[in-house]
Amino acid sequence: MSSYESTVRYFDQAAGMMGLSANMRKLLLTPLRELKVQIAVERDNGEIATYIGYRVQHDNARGPMKGGLRYHPEVNADEVLALASLMTWKTAVVNIPYGGAKGGIAVNTKDLSQGELERLTRKFVDQIHDVIGPDTDIPAPDMATNAQVMAWIMNQYGKYHGFNPAVVTGKPVELHGSEGREEATGRGVVTVTCALLEKLKRKVNHTTVALQGFGNVGSFAATFLHERGAKVLGVTDASGGVWNPEGLDIPALLQFTKERGSIKGFSGGDALSNEELLASDVDVLIPAALGNVLDAHNAENVRAKFIVEAANNPTQPEADDVFHRRGITVVPDILANAGGVTVSYFEWVQNRQHFKWELARVRTELDRIMTESFDRVWEIAESRKVPLRVAAYLLGIGRVGRATVLGGL
Ligand code: NAD
Repeated sequence: MSSYESTVRYFDQAAGMMGLSANMRKLLLTPLRELKVQIAVERDNGEIATYIGYRVQHDNARGPMKGGLRYHPEVNADEVLALASLMTWKTAVVNIPYGGAKGGIAVNTKDLSQGELERLTRKFVDQIHDVIGPDTDIPAPDMATNAQVMAWIMNQYGKYHGFNPAVVTGKPVELHGSEGREEATGRGVVTVTCALLEKLKRKVNHTTVALQGFGNVGSFAATFLHERGAKVLGVTDASGGVWNPEGLDIPALLQFTKERGSIKGFSGGDALSNEELLASDVDVLIPAALGNVLDAHNAENVRAKFIVEAANNPTQPEADDVFHRRGITVVPDILANAGGVTVSYFEWVQNRQHFKWELARVRTELDRIMTESFDRVWEIAESRKVPLRVAAYLLGIGRVGRATVLGGL
């Protein structure tokens, strides 16, 4: 099943319960605009390299479209569309005034120098600057893009349209970024994890965790979990993995990855493969890397009681069915990882008001939105007797549907 087919299946599950007509489903699912562009850049050695870039603007019924920009060799039109539609439901679940979009370039950034990465980013902006903007579509970081990439986007966009930092979020704090944006997705993941544990009367400091991915989201999630007393037993990244039944020393692992670029060679535990991590005996499994990692083949092997989807689209519908049957609770991506877009919204608000918030305010507002959103989804799940994913879709689709009807065609 392709990534987009998965998201449509999740959509249909909820849309069916809501009694949405076929015409309304089609209206809500059809993207507003799909763009595929050529990006030709000069390599440092003088050769020309050509890449394909994408931007999909899915829905703007609730406000300007918002979504990350992913640089990864496997980026393709189907995946970007799937991720754009997830953004539509996600921004609605946390009730921030945005629609959904997503973009990306099919490229392995490990093959590029910093100068090549900058030229690639600026060329991409040359191709899409007409269709993005603070009131239309606002990109942000995703896999292999960071604050520096966002700074180049702001600068290149400004060459066409004048100074307007609100065109992109996730910028460096020194250049109109927000305090707390970098940590936001990981922090939100931990807030909803703790909210779930609390509902089930479990203690965070008696909880064990395994994490796939130790990039932006995974490393901050690990840090906040560690701070709250949970034991992170296993972590993997693209280079390999590490397992310590006593709990990994997360600050030491962070320091190590900062110096070495990956967790390969970390001596604070035993080697661990991705498959072993996904099947490890922990309370909470947090996929925080790629999509589609939990599928029909490995779902039966999962031993965690709870799965918190920090990554986008990590669970294929067949696996989701298995988890439901086996009583494994899944906190879905459109709720679990919404902390990033929430603080992106705070950054946009600050840019538009030319007024900077302190970190404490960002954290307080983020924690409030994540907790309230979790509680709302939990209530729907309880009252309708459905899994949290269906509840989140019911909430998100309901809000987008109402905005669509109120706004009219
Ligand atoms: P990142 O590039 O900072 O980190 C990605 C991590 O995944 C790295 O540690 C990398 O080594 C690891 N990884 C890559 N391939 C792997 C593999 N085959 N096996 C195990 N690990 C692998 O990206 P990120 O920003 O942390 O994003 C991670 C996920 O979270 C993505 O699904 C992204 O869409 C989602 N997400 C990110 C944000 C955000 O604010 N950055 C917001 C919402 C959702």
